[in-house]
Amino acid sequence: MPRVAVYTGTFDPVHLGHLDIIERGCRVFDRLVVAVGINPDKSPLLTVDERVSLLREVTAPFGNVEVMPFSGLAVHFVREINATCMLRGLRTTSDMEYEFTMSLANMTLDSEIETVFLMAKDIYSHLSSSLLKQIASFGGDLAKFLPVPALELVRTKMGPRPGKKT
Ligand code: ADP
Repeated sequence: MPRVAVYTGTFDPVHLGHLDIIERGCRVFDRLVVAVGINPDKSPLLTVDERVSLLREVTAPFGNVEVMPFSGLAVHFVREINATCMLRGLRTTSDMEYEFTMSLANMTLDSEIETVFLMAKDIYSHLSSSLLKQIASFGGDLAKFLPVPALELVRTKMGPRPGKKT
């Protein structure tokens, strides 16, 4: 049976830390579904369609990666698409606490679905979408952290960088 995993997240926007987990994850699994969360409690910078199409564009070279929007419980989505694993990235010990709780909750909801963790690469372990949006809001350059299509869209959405001569 092909091993199918789901990598859930908000991806607002997708950054190089996410992409690294996707690239490594798609070598571990036969198929990797990147599931973009629609969370009514969050007010993301990018719409779900923008996040999905960015991810489709940047994961196209991998071949066995598919990108889909999802809402509701992640374990229900995993079942719905006949996957058996959830893939998560771990950055720091503070991630561990949250991820440990989430994976226990998911295990209780569906004991047949396993959560698999990949450690973040050291060069990306400080990256988070919220930190990047904060940097951008103060006019910082995100070129080192975002794939080009994400960089362009964030620049369009957040406007010109203050204090930067063109
Ligand atoms: P959310 O926090 O809303 O679940 P994110 O888009 O922030 O969504 O993260 C999705 C997944 O990517 C999570 O498993 C998270 O731990 C992982 N992740 C986030 N940033 C990094 C990074 N810099 N390196 C590796 N994994 C990461």
